[in-house]
Amino acid sequence: MHKNRLILVSNRLPFKITERNGRIEFLPSSGGLVTSITSYVHKKNSSSGFDQSDCPIWVGSSDIGKRYFYEHFPNEGVFHDGYKLAPVHIPASMHDKFYNGFCNDTIWPLFHYFPSYAKFVDEYYDMYQKVNKLFCEKVIEIYEPGDIIWIHDYHLMLLPALLRKKLPNATIGFFLHIPFPSFELFRLLPSRWRREILLGLLGADVIGFHTNDYVQSFLKSIRQILGYDNMLRVVATPERSITVDVFPISIDYHKFNDALLSNEIFTEKNKIKKRLYDAKLIISVDRLDYAKGLINRLESFDLFLSKYPEYKKKVVYILLVVPSRDIIAKYKETKSDIEGVVSRINGKYGGIGWTPVIYQYKTLDFKKLLALYTAADVALIVPMRDGMNLVAKEFVASRSDRRGVLILSETAGAAAELGGAILVNPNDRLEIAESLNIALSMPVEEQVHRNDTMRTRLREYDVMKWAEDFISQLLERKAKQETLKVKEVTGHTENSICINYSKASKRLLFLDYDGTLVPMAAFSHQAVPDKNLINLLTALAEDKKNDIVISSGRTMDTLEKWFGHIPVHLVAEHGAFYKGHGMDWLQTIPVGSGWKPAVIPIMSQFTDRCAGTWVEEKNLSVAWHYRNAEKDLGFLRSRELVNALLELSSHLDFQIIEGKRVVEAKARGINKGVAAAVWLKENQCDFILAIGDDKTDEDLFRVIPASQYSILVGLKQSRAKYNFKQQQDVLDLLDKLNRL
Ligand code: UDP
Repeated sequence: MHKNRLILVSNRLPFKITERNGRIEFLPSSGGLVTSITSYVHKKNSSSGFDQSDCPIWVGSSDIGKRYFYEHFPNEGVFHDGYKLAPVHIPASMHDKFYNGFCNDTIWPLFHYFPSYAKFVDEYYDMYQKVNKLFCEKVIEIYEPGDIIWIHDYHLMLLPALLRKKLPNATIGFFLHIPFPSFELFRLLPSRWRREILLGLLGADVIGFHTNDYVQSFLKSIRQILGYDNMLRVVATPERSITVDVFPISIDYHKFNDALLSNEIFTEKNKIKKRLYDAKLIISVDRLDYAKGLINRLESFDLFLSKYPEYKKKVVYILLVVPSRDIIAKYKETKSDIEGVVSRINGKYGGIGWTPVIYQYKTLDFKKLLALYTAADVALIVPMRDGMNLVAKEFVASRSDRRGVLILSETAGAAAELGGAILVNPNDRLEIAESLNIALSMPVEEQVHRNDTMRTRLREYDVMKWAEDFISQLLERKAKQETLKVKEVTGHTENSICINYSKASKRLLFLDYDGTLVPMAAFSHQAVPDKNLINLLTALAEDKKNDIVISSGRTMDTLEKWFGHIPVHLVAEHGAFYKGHGMDWLQTIPVGSGWKPAVIPIMSQFTDRCAGTWVEEKNLSVAWHYRNAEKDLGFLRSRELVNALLELSSHLDFQIIEGKRVVEAKARGINKGVAAAVWLKENQCDFILAIGDDKTDEDLFRVIPASQYSILVGLKQSRAKYNFKQQQDVLDLLDKLNRL
C-alpha cells in the first residue's frame, strides 16, 4: 500500500552517478543541502525501518546519459543509500544557460548582495523556465496522491507553481538554502521575472528560509510586487493560504560531537598537530565562491601578521577551498586571485620551516575534515554573505573538548544562532585581524563558556528537528487550507438556506453594500441603489421575522440618504457607527480620531503622485481610492502608501485595511464584526445570513456562528462558509428568499 512518500527535489541528485570499467559508481555530492537531508533521511530510515516501497525519492539532475540510465535501470528505478533516485536529464545544450547562466550568474550574485556581478540575459531566463518544466514533468510522472513534495533551492523557484497547476491538491514545500535579498535588490530583476519567481514560490504550501531577515525580505517583496499581505507569516492569496517561516537548517549534532571518539579521526588530528610543532592553527573551509570573501579573509590575516609580528612562526592558517563552479568566469578569477594573495603572503612572511598559509584546493572526506576541525585553535569563517554556513555549526559541534574559538561573519545565516562566536563584519579587515588576536589569546574558560551555549543550541535544534519542523508545518498548513477552501454555493446549499429561512421564526441578515448589493462603480457616488434594490430590501425588511442590517464602509450621511426611509438597520464606516431603524446613530466603541491629521497629508501626497486617485475623509476613517488610476502605477503607489502608513501605525492608534483598490486607515479596534455583535447579542435568531465581498467583511464572517450562513462574493478563500461567483447571485438569492 502506498504511504505518503517523501519526494525530494533539488537541482542535483545526492550522488554523482558515473561508470567505471562497466560498473556504475555512486559518489556522494558535497554541500550543505545534501549533507543535511541525508542525515535526516538516514536517521529516519534507521528508526522506522527501511522499506524500498516507501523510501524517499530524490528527483534531481544527473550527468549520466538518458539512454545509458534506462538501459541499466529499467522501470523499477535505482535505489542507493536509502533513496530511490529519479534523474532528470537536462540536455547539455540547456544546462549551461540554466545552471551557469541564470542560477549562478544571475540569482546567486544578486541574492548574495553582489548585484554588479549579476547578468540579466533573456535566454538564461528562458532556459530556467524550460528546465523547471522538465523537473515538473518528472515529478508528475512519479507522484501519487498523498505524497509530500519538498523542493529545494534557488534553481527551482518556478517549480512549485508549475506543479500546483497540474496537481492542485498536492502537498508542496519549498526551502531556500541561500539568502533572500532585501526588496531593493530583488526588484532589480526584470518585472516579469520577479513576478513569476514570486508567484512560482507561492505555489508551495510552506516556504522556508534560514533566518527571520530573509522571511521579512520575502514578505516585503510579495507585498510590494504582488500586493499580498500576511498575518503572522501566513500569506493569503486568492486561492490558498501559505506559511512563510524560519527553519534554520542544522547538522547531525551527534555525528560531529562523537568525532573525537573515532580512533582514525583522533590519530589524524594528532598528526596535524605534530606537523605544526607548537604553532597555533587557524582553519577555514569554504567552497570556491566570491561570496565567501576569501580574498578579504587572507588580507585580514596579512594585516594580523603585520600588526602582531610576535605570532610569526607561531601560527599557521590552513585554507581549505573546495572546488566549485570553476568554469564560470567569476569563479575562475576568484581562484587565481586567491592563489595570488596566498603566494604574496607566504613570500612576504614565510621562510624555511614556516609557511604561514597552507592552501589546499580539494575536497576532504569526512574523517580528514573532522581531524581538521578538531585540531584547530580558531575557525575563521567570515563569508561576505552566506545563507547559513554549516561549516561553522560543524566546527562547534565537533568540539566535544569544548575548546576552540569560532570567528563568524555577522552576515552569515548561522550568526543568528551562534551568538557565542566572535561576530565580525566581513568587510572590516582590522576587526577581523583584532579578532584573530583575541581568539588566539582567549582563556580556556571563556572558550568553554562560549562553546557550551552554542553546543546546547546545536544539540537541541539539529537536522532532524529542522526537517521534522518543516514537514509538520507543511501538514498543518494543508489541514488549515481544507477549512479555508473555496466552497461555491450549489443548488443544494441554496435549498438548505431557503428551507432554514422558511422554518426560522427570527432572522438576521447582514449585507455589505458596494460589491455585494450593487456592482463596483468607477466613482463611489455613482453606486446609488436603484428602485429594484430599494423595493427588494424594503420587502424583506417589512417581514416581521426579519432584521436587515446594511453593513458598509460608507459614511453615516450617505447611508441615511439612501436607506433612511426604509425599515433597515445601518452600520457605517466599517463598523464604527450603527443605527437601529428609527433610532439615532451611535458609536460602536469609544475610539478617537486624533491620528487623522497625521494620515491625511500622507495620503494627499500620494494623490499628487498618482493621477486618478482621491482621499475620502470620514469620521473615524480615511480612505485613499485608486480604482481610476493607471493600473500598475496605482498598485505600486498603494504598496508604497501601505508601507508609509505601517510605520506610522506602529505609534498611532489606527489600523490599515485594504479593500478593492482602496487603502483605508481606520481607528484601531473597530470592524464590522464588532458592530454585528450589537445585533447578535440582542436578538435570539434561528437564522443568520451574512454576505460581503472584501477583506473588511472577513471580520463579520468571523462572528457568524458555524451553524449559520456566511457567503463571500468572488471565488477567493475566506472565513466565509460559502462563495458566490458574482454579485448578481446575491440579488438572485435575496429575491428567492423574498418570494418564499
Ligand atoms: N564539506 C565536505 N568536504 C569538504 C569540505 C566541506 O563534505 O572537503 C561539507 C561540509 O562538511 C559542509 C558542506 O560541505 O557540510 C558546506 O556547507 P556550507 O553550508 O558551509 O556551505 P555551502 O557549500 O552550502 O555554501
